[in-house]
Amino acid sequence: MDSHYKVNWVTDSLAVGSAPMNHDDLGALKDQGITAILNLCAEFCDLHWIESEAGFETYYLPIPDEQAPDLPELEKALDWLDEVIYLGKRALIHCRHGIGRTGTVLNAYLLRKGLGSKLANRTLKPLKSKPVNFNQWWFIRKYGQREKPLTLREPMLEVRHMVDLVPFLAEHEQILAALDSQLGEEERLCGREHAGCCRDLVEVPLAEAVYVKHAMTELLSRTSREMCVKQAVEATRAVRQARSACGGQRFGPKVRTAYRAAEVLCPLNEYGECLIFERRPMACRAFDLPSEQRDELLALAEARSRDISARLLAAYAGSTNDLTPPRFTLPEVVSGKFVQEFFHMLSSPEAQEQAGDMAEGRP
Ligand code: SF4
Repeated sequence: MDSHYKVNWVTDSLAVGSAPMNHDDLGALKDQGITAILNLCAEFCDLHWIESEAGFETYYLPIPDEQAPDLPELEKALDWLDEVIYLGKRALIHCRHGIGRTGTVLNAYLLRKGLGSKLANRTLKPLKSKPVNFNQWWFIRKYGQREKPLTLREPMLEVRHMVDLVPFLAEHEQILAALDSQLGEEERLCGREHAGCCRDLVEVPLAEAVYVKHAMTELLSRTSREMCVKQAVEATRAVRQARSACGGQRFGPKVRTAYRAAEVLCPLNEYGECLIFERRPMACRAFDLPSEQRDELLALAEARSRDISARLLAAYAGSTNDLTPPRFTLPEVVSGKFVQEFFHMLSSPEAQEQAGDMAEGRP
């Protein structure tokens, strides 16, 4: 490989660097384990296509040279960054020379993780990626005032260790198989022969949220996933409206009724068919059963899934203590918003306190 291109690692999953200028540089990125790229180069408007065609998961946030990013656009890019890292990819942030724009976005990422400006500056110190002019410093100063540092314990930049999801996913499949075995063939129709459940607000426990997101990555093309995410963002808006119409209640029959009135189709439904039919959630599978039988079966399946969710949460938090595993709506899962909420929850003082106790051997 004829390239001296080297990235600078910030964490095990996040690196910064300059723009790859040829195919050898792209090859060198792959050799260093990079699989996702956050490209900030406004001046190279086709580089992100080239990166994408070379097989990288790519997000394009064009920022003109010497400038700071637009705040809402930056938040979207950082949501994406959280998600790819959560999915186990190793990501590179780059602008042309890997200095000002890269440093500004990295600095914002560190602040968003709760590092506070002192710790963020310490992380940036050995790197050449830093904000370099008034625009960029001012942006970071304002951003830092919004994102309060976590003070109880050193915040986690990423989960401390990757969690092997395979056993959790396999356990969840066992629940689905047990549920399917209780249904007659004629009952497994919703999502294929009609879309009754696809206008409902489907709620899923944490383990099922991870399972569905994983199914999307495995079964859908990137374009199809992007389409689902776009529709899910709309559906998430309808969830918010339904919740606010119910006085801020997050889940429950009232919220579901308000959501159903908005007539929003599930973002995983395309032309009347479920895109992940074989891996659809428990609630969709049981939809066609008489209500009493459905409630009974779902209660059993959900209890098992709650148990998997609790162990999954403990594995991510690095703690055996009881944290209550969260639930999500399907639009939040498909849009990726659940990843953000989940990691905010893991960064909460309570979760970090428990993780710290574990690390220091306290019961
Ligand atoms: S996951 Fe599939 S079956 Fe369930 S609501 Fe969405 S499209 Fe319908």
